[in-house]
Amino acid sequence: MRPLPVVEPRNPRAFGAARLLEADNRPQLSAESSLLDPGEVPWEKRVYFEVFGCQMNKLDAELMLDVLLESGYRITGDVRSAGVILYNTCAVREQAENRVFSKVGALKALKRKRPDLVIGVLGCSAQNHRESIFKRYPQVGIVCGTGEFLRLPELIQLARKKGQVAALKLDLETTPRFTRTKNLGPSPSQAFVSVMRGCDQACTFCVVPRTRGKEVSRPVREIVDEARALVDGGVREITLLGQTVNSYGKRVDGTDFRRTVGRAIGLHHVLYELNKIAGLERIRFITSHPRFMFPELIDAMAGLEKVCEYLHLPVQSGADSVLKRMLRTYTIDHYRSVVASCREKIRGFALATDIIVGFCGETEAEFQETLRIMEEIRFQGAFVFRYSERKGTRAAEFPDDVPDEVKHERNQIVLKLTQRISSELNRERVGRVEEVLVEGPSKLDRARLTGRSRANQIVVFPGKVGEGLSGKLFPVKIVESTPLVLVGERAGEGR
Ligand code: SAM
Repeated sequence: MRPLPVVEPRNPRAFGAARLLEADNRPQLSAESSLLDPGEVPWEKRVYFEVFGCQMNKLDAELMLDVLLESGYRITGDVRSAGVILYNTCAVREQAENRVFSKVGALKALKRKRPDLVIGVLGCSAQNHRESIFKRYPQVGIVCGTGEFLRLPELIQLARKKGQVAALKLDLETTPRFTRTKNLGPSPSQAFVSVMRGCDQACTFCVVPRTRGKEVSRPVREIVDEARALVDGGVREITLLGQTVNSYGKRVDGTDFRRTVGRAIGLHHVLYELNKIAGLERIRFITSHPRFMFPELIDAMAGLEKVCEYLHLPVQSGADSVLKRMLRTYTIDHYRSVVASCREKIRGFALATDIIVGFCGETEAEFQETLRIMEEIRFQGAFVFRYSERKGTRAAEFPDDVPDEVKHERNQIVLKLTQRISSELNRERVGRVEEVLVEGPSKLDRARLTGRSRANQIVVFPGKVGEGLSGKLFPVKIVESTPLVLVGERAGEGR
């Protein structure tokens, strides 16, 4: 079948081709650009790919892309010229899920016109809704969860033969050991590395344990080898990923945790090993859980020069009563003491958080406690979520009784407060020199470059692409601040 003409990709979630357009400007990736060129393969080997949700989903998408490219598939940014359309989904909130399913729904006519087209729903929502997706959307050919996506090339073949195929195993035996051979992410100098998969927490609001299964940690050696290969390929900053990244260390050898005695290793061991890699400049890790901020980890953050002094530590609520209903397993006092210890030991410590407003039964007094903790702790940034009931979670059995307009209003109040505090903290940085890893041209002003400080703040400063500055580290003197961005001037040579 003749493909429709290729149009310029417009969708920022579309993976591959849109990035390829940027990647073409980067000599590091130009050798690989043919891997992503859809023009050279037949229609049935052209994949359109969209990713929703967290960093873990983005990393999964890279791994999926890797197996597809290895099997001769090529990525297109044009949905209408693809023989395979894949969505890697997010199930954390209903809104995100609805967005994907409305896209899938809209593909019915295209599938009718092109019966050989394979549409796949992958990742968390696939794991969550399982085969029921086929009933609601008969145009879908693949439902593949978070444990079996390395089978994608085989699943595409099976879907072409059988019409529909599900791959939803998610247990300790099938949890794949993911090791990447190349960095396919948006920036050649930055990469995600997973240290573990799954989540053993039982937070009542959260669907993740259901969609990603039990925690399984990767051996330190495997993580270090992957990091070293990425650094050899030009990566300078690695962000370690895990749902509760700082509980790292469980089931490292694939055996059940109950049968292993105690916790022999922790995330700090990974940090000490990575810190030794020559050429690696920065190490980050997300997302941490307050219960697992052990002193050894705080000491590693304080003592290892490559580990950035930035922590993403979701508090979720400022009220102990709400934390109890959420089954978060810590109190606000514990959270306070962790932050106090980080601030005491780690120079330049910066903290970001997640907050849920309107959780089941949240009273005005409980909400006020969240505002109080925000004023007290002064987060550099906060991701704010309106509570969204998720089927299969414990909280789905509680009444979702905070009216939508109240959730909306609380959301606005928290956002405003976050912005005020970030502005104040950013203003304190004016006059200081920050080390910035350049990511590329600023989207708003092509005469400026954008990058991040060690504290994970966006910094823009004068400079142009084409000067070979992407991926370099610059000292930048901050001259101006806004709530979201620091503006600076080069204060020395890059390296
Ligand atoms: N595993 C991490 C943790 O527990 O800290 C992050 C999980 S989730 C991908 C990211 C954030 O989404 C959570 O920290 C929480 O604030 C928010 N979230 C999770 N479930 C939610 C729900 N049902 N409604 C609203 N926000 C939710």
